[in-house]
Amino acid sequence: MLQNTDAAQIEINGDRLFDTLNQSAQIGPGRAGGLRRLALSDADKQMRDLFVRWCEDLGCVVRIDQAGNMFARMEGREDLPPVLIGSHLDTQMAGGRFDGILGVLTGLEILRVLKEVGITPKRPIEVVNWANEEGARSAPPMTSSAVFAGVKTLDWLYALKDDDGLTFGDELARIGYKGKTPAAAFPIDSYFEFHIEQGPELHNKSLPLGVVVGGYKSHGMNVIFRGETAHSGPTAMENRRNALVGAAKFISAVNDIGWAHAPIGKSTASRISLWPNKNGILPDYAETTVDMRHRDKNVTDQMVVQAREALTEAARVAQVDYEIEAEWTFGDEVFDPELIELICDTARGQGIEPLKMRSQAGHDAYNLCHVAPTALIFCPCIDGITHNEAENIAREPTVQAATVVLQAVLARANR
Ligand SMILES: [Zn+2]
Repeated sequence: MLQNTDAAQIEINGDRLFDTLNQSAQIGPGRAGGLRRLALSDADKQMRDLFVRWCEDLGCVVRIDQAGNMFARMEGREDLPPVLIGSHLDTQMAGGRFDGILGVLTGLEILRVLKEVGITPKRPIEVVNWANEEGARSAPPMTSSAVFAGVKTLDWLYALKDDDGLTFGDELARIGYKGKTPAAAFPIDSYFEFHIEQGPELHNKSLPLGVVVGGYKSHGMNVIFRGETAHSGPTAMENRRNALVGAAKFISAVNDIGWAHAPIGKSTASRISLWPNKNGILPDYAETTVDMRHRDKNVTDQMVVQAREALTEAARVAQVDYEIEAEWTFGDEVFDPELIELICDTARGQGIEPLKMRSQAGHDAYNLCHVAPTALIFCPCIDGITHNEAENIAREPTVQAATVVLQAVLARANR
């Protein structure tokens, strides 16, 4: 076995990591070179099966929990709480090849390196794939890490529906990943999530590594408007109860709220569904998803108050009823100062100056903050392009950052 002094020299194998990423990029290809690997789809199952095979080839035991999360465990020298490293293998409808995937497959690469050089750390290391991080098929995002962290219940998760009315519980069983392990946190030494930045800061500054010290508080809402179907010709303007008009006025107001708090504040309306959605018929049902975010959580809270006022006004003007069907927040959780310092020190030991930064996107790491010391580490993505099939990463900074993650995980696993 190598001594700890030698451990400081070991590196990620860039050829192998990028070859593994390329193999993942063949499963669930999108139309423009990216990925469409929606959670619990056939492509997700195929990717999960491959991940299990890769992990078992290394001698890992893979557990599946009731929420569909996967844990590939490499035993340590002692039976202590493990170090976890992971992210997600699912993607958006028109997603990239690296968002989430890089974090899981870097975890796998770390296990491969350790096995190759013959290092068995003191603690076990577990590589995790959190189910349905994206929420692209059944909203909201980060559902299964939320159940694991005790933020949401299993019943709530199983009842989530996709646009075709298929439930999360049924689809999870269909692809064979409704596991038996309780979906609940166990004693964890630490959780590391390695992710592309999904913004341009590292790329623009030509820096390979960012350490996240906090998020942007984000508040999402799913709102349903209910009106009445009617013929678009004879129905007088004063008698119309058009659900689409209520939704449209609300969406426009939410966009104005983002502008009022720009550039730090942002608001988004990302989705609408209508019924019957036919020519010449006033729709009686509209459902929309919006979110607001800001670095200062008090401002986010103010934006939400403004959105609620706008919602009441939009419904009044359109003469429709509304219901806030679901709400969620994330982004004001606290990352572990000790892990942040460990990563910064490790980076400097490799000649890299880390950038302390805030994340503007949601990640499973936010949920893990509730149950384990957690760190979120970023590498650059080219021009900050993400949730887009053109999403890409450069090899050199990625391998540099991944090597820092390897060193930090190993230091923690030998603790
Ligand atoms: Zn992601």
